[in-house]
This record gives sequence, C-alpha cells and structure tokens, in this order.
Amino acid sequence: MPVESLFPRLEALLPRVQKPIQYVGGELNSTVKDWDEATVRWALMYPDAYEVGLPNQGVQILYEILNEMPETLAERTYAVWPDLEALMRAEGVPQFTVDAHRPVRAFDVFGVSFSTELGYTNMLTALDLAGIPLVAADRGDDDPIVLAGGHAAFNPEPIADFLDAAVLGDGEQIAIAITEVVREWKAEGSPGGRDELLMRLAESGGVYVPKFYDVDYHPDGRIRRVAPNRPGVPWRVHKHTVMDLDEWPYPKKPLVPLAETVHERFSVEIFRGCTRGCRFCQAGMITRPVRERSITTIGDMVEAGVKASGFNEVGLLSLSSADHSEIGDIAKGLADRYEGTNTSLSLPSTRVDAFNIDLANEFSRNGRRSGLTFAPEGGSERMRKVINKMVTEEDLIRTVTTAYTQGWRQVKLYFMCGLPTEEDADVLGIADLARKVIKAGREATGSRDIRCTVSIGGFVPKPHTPFQWAAQADHETVDRRLKALKDALRGDKEYGRAIGMRYHDGKPSIVEGLLSRGDRRVGGVIRAVWEDGGRFDGWSEHFSYQRWMDAAAKAGVDVDWYTTREREENEVLPWDHLDAGLDREWLWQDWQDAINDVEVEDCRWTPCYDCGVCPTMGTEIQIGPTGKKLLPLTVV
Ligand code: SF4
Repeated sequence: MPVESLFPRLEALLPRVQKPIQYVGGELNSTVKDWDEATVRWALMYPDAYEVGLPNQGVQILYEILNEMPETLAERTYAVWPDLEALMRAEGVPQFTVDAHRPVRAFDVFGVSFSTELGYTNMLTALDLAGIPLVAADRGDDDPIVLAGGHAAFNPEPIADFLDAAVLGDGEQIAIAITEVVREWKAEGSPGGRDELLMRLAESGGVYVPKFYDVDYHPDGRIRRVAPNRPGVPWRVHKHTVMDLDEWPYPKKPLVPLAETVHERFSVEIFRGCTRGCRFCQAGMITRPVRERSITTIGDMVEAGVKASGFNEVGLLSLSSADHSEIGDIAKGLADRYEGTNTSLSLPSTRVDAFNIDLANEFSRNGRRSGLTFAPEGGSERMRKVINKMVTEEDLIRTVTTAYTQGWRQVKLYFMCGLPTEEDADVLGIADLARKVIKAGREATGSRDIRCTVSIGGFVPKPHTPFQWAAQADHETVDRRLKALKDALRGDKEYGRAIGMRYHDGKPSIVEGLLSRGDRRVGGVIRAVWEDGGRFDGWSEHFSYQRWMDAAAKAGVDVDWYTTREREENEVLPWDHLDAGLDREWLWQDWQDAINDVEVEDCRWTPCYDCGVCPTMGTEIQIGPTGKKLLPLTVV
C-alpha cells in the first residue's frame, strides 16, 4: 500500500512552533529508502526532543545497520514538543518520522530506545499521536510491534502493558534477527496475526513478550511468581552481548544535526562494559563483560567518521574511557594525527588518577582546555567503600592538585546523595573534600585563580545492581543533607567562593525510583500522569512531582512501598525473569559486602570473582593490549 509523506500537512504547522528545523529531516548521512522495495520497516524512536535524541548512539547504530540490510528500511522519530503536539492533534497529523515524514503506524516495528525511565510518558504521546492503541492488548494486525530497548528496558515491567516486546542488551545482532523473523512471517502471509509473530519472537529466547507472562502477587503486594502462560515461552529472557566490537564499527556515517543538539561531535565507543564494580552503577553491571574495540579499528572509525561528517570534535565514549588498555597510545596517536588541524578530541574524564590528567593534556593539545571532571561519587572514605568506588582522599587531592599545577583552572567533582547507609556526615564530607582540594591547589600553584564545582545527583537504586534491594532515601532526607552542605560551603569564608555547587532537589529521584523498581501495577500511574498532561519528565521545567503523586494515589500505588522500602533476599523482584547475566547470589553477597564496607577489585586485572556473567552468557573479558600503534594520516 503506498504511504504518502505527511510533510505537506506538517509544513503548514511549522511556522507556528518553536524550532521547526528539528522536524524537517534531511540531515547529512540520513537515509531515505524506497518504501515499496522494503519488506520490513522500522521506525526508531528516542523518546525525547530532537536535541537530545539525535546524538543518541544506540539509535544511530541501529538506523545504519538496518538501512544497510537489503529490503529493510529504518527511519527516526523523536518526541514532539507540546506546541507541535497540540497543533498535530488539532489538524489530525499523526506521529511522523523525520526522514521521509511517514506515519509511524505504517511501519512494522516501532522500536523505542530508553536510556531513562523518564521517557515513558513521551512514548505514550508518540503512540497516541500515531494512532496506535496505548495498550498492547488493544492493538490489531495493522499496528506495528512496539518494542523497547536500551538500559531502562532491563526492567520494562512498569510499561509492560504498553509494549508488545522488549530486548535486553546490545541491539546490533538482535535487531537483525528480529527483522528476519518479521520478514519470514510476512512472506508467509502473516499467519496467525500479530499473536503468532510475537510467539515466534518469544520462542527465540531473545525477545521478552510481556503478555506471555503472568504475574501473581502475595496478599501483602509482593510478587509471588512470574511465569510463562504458554508452552514454548522461556522462563527467563537473556540479554544480548556483541562479543567482537571490531566487527560492528558503527556508526560509520554519523548523523549531522540540523538544529542545535546536546552533543555536536562524532562519538566513537572505544569499549563496552565495565567491571570496576561500582555498586550504584546499573550501566556497569548490565553491560558486562568488558569488550574493547581495538586501537586500529578506533583509528579507522575516527578517520572515516570525521571524513563522512565534517565534525570537528571527536569524543571517545565508554563507561570509563581511561580504562581502555591502550588509551595512552590511542590518545597520543589521535593527538599526533590531528595536530594542527581543526579536529579536537574529548574524553569524558572520570577516573581519579594522575594518568587521567596526562590523557587530558594529550586531548587538549589541539583544542580547548575546558574543565576536568572526576567522579569520586561518595563524600567520605566510608561511603566510597560502600559503593565500591576505590578512591582515597589522598588520591583525589593529589590528582586534582596535579591538574591545577598543569594549568587546569576548573575542576568538577561529581557526587551522589542518598546512598545506602549514608549519614549527614558523609554528605558534609563533600564540603571538606572540596576545601582540601582548593587549599592544596592554592598551595601548589601559588594562585587563587582556581575553582572547583561539586555537582550532586540523587541516588536511585536500580535493578540488576547490588543496591536493587536497598531502601531509597526519601526526598526530605536528601534535601536536608543538600541544604546542610550548601550552608557549609556558603559559610566558608576562606574557600567557599572558590567552590561552586550544583544539585537538584530529591523529588525527581523518587519518581525515577518508582519507575526503576516498579512492577506492572506502576503502569497505571504512568498512564494517569500522561493523561493529566505529563510530558518530557526528564526536563525540570516540565516535570511535576505533584502530578506523579496524585496519579499514584489515584491508581492506588503506594510510592514509599516501591522506593523507600528495603527488600528481603528472597523477595521476587519484578525483573527476576529478565537475565542480565549477573548471578543473583553474587549480587546479594555484593550488597552484604557493601553494608560491611568490603571492596571488590576489578576482574580485568584480578582473578574472576564469579559475578556470573561470563559463564551464563558464554562471554569473556576482551582487552588488549594489541601492541599496535596508530599511524598518522597519509597526506595525499
Ligand atoms: S564472570 Fe568473572 S571475569 Fe566475567 S565479568 Fe564477572 S567477575 Fe569478571
């Protein structure tokens, strides 16, 4: 059936909205394929505004991989701002892709990539605007399969009613596998309708189809059991792990945004996974094991990506980039290669040691010397042991002082508030640390022209981490501790003016906590918030705590029960049937170690401590060194 472009109808609305450029598509390296030549068509969504969504690596990678497949087409869609949403509703214009402005409902698969749970309401807006029933059970054979992925899909239970399916882990191979299942089913004449298609996906073992699982509850509200309700559906669904990143050097042709976006650079992922074992870090836990991309592939990707995009900044991306076994050679090789050109390099600096400053110096050879960021995360040594962030006060002060003596003037330190076992003194420790940093910096440089900014985020316990059982701190406690910290810094006559503080109040973390560890009953809250106008919950100007609390009350959901309640070892957690590879007993032991201030080393350089991932997933740590060097670019 021919599918018409919605652009003529959309164009009429664009003069009346803010930043219309974000809806027009046609970016450098975007792809529009012939609709009729494709047999499987994906609409890929990042459920936030274009400026946040366009740079998303996950979407860009899948977009390119799917469009490289014959007879397969992928287009992108983003959350539209409320001004355009209102006009689209008034004029009957449905959710569209930015590539060819095709209606999302016409696609076979609507894939939504969630980095954060705060994007859930934006998915509902997109579904509703698309004309796709919000609840999966109400969808018919003409509706796309609504599929979630990304880190926030490791517990998709709160949005289970709205999803047809979810996938855990790396998307490259599973997106291709799903495409082939859909293609085969369509080629056979779509036997059994969407139910059979979902069954075929579920039977593969790599796709979670919520409707094929029943959840039973105890009278006190805890989950009794989650069990498949059909033969052939696996008890547990496993995550996907791409083992050889060199085989998947995407994005090869990065999208160049037309409108302003949060990152305007070409990002190359230098490794995936992290085994440092920070207990609060869901990303580190669910992406294990570490798989490095080789120095030569990184060099080739940078060269090809810069050439294809014209970006003048390259970011080396990963959870802890300084940990790549050949990062020194990568940094030097790239800095040599691009010296004197207008291409600059950046590295999200987080590791607290002097080596990181050497790296930062290499990276800034050809660019700006902005600020350095380190993430000690906990304000006291005890707190850092609890979260397994092995940084001593001495390390931190020495590292930051080195940065100041090497000419860096601005250092940012990232912390969390509301961590398990935290007391007021742990948070006030942040002020002490910042004072010591400035004092040592002034002594070492002889200058008063140095600054330190402490940035504090609220801790949210996440599924598949040792803190999945922990009680989240209530927002009153978090706010009280943050206020005490602010007062301590403000009241400091000697160092206070050199220390900046950035923080958010504790309320959004409670909503994030509800969504992170929620079960299917939380779906009613999400829907009620959305019906009440909830949109763009990740944006402080749009977020309304009261709206969430009112919706929870209306849906009969006790927010404290989901957030500030500590779970017992044997409680069935809503995501226990979803396998991130981590052994539950190991996670529990690590939680006990946390409470007892016991640290765990990184298994990259110490023996395996049996977290379970490698044997369960059939994977292994893959690190260098390869011993290879990056050659300078050949000038032709
Ligand atoms: S199984 Fe062992 S080697 Fe693999 S990630 Fe876990 S601790 Fe590390």
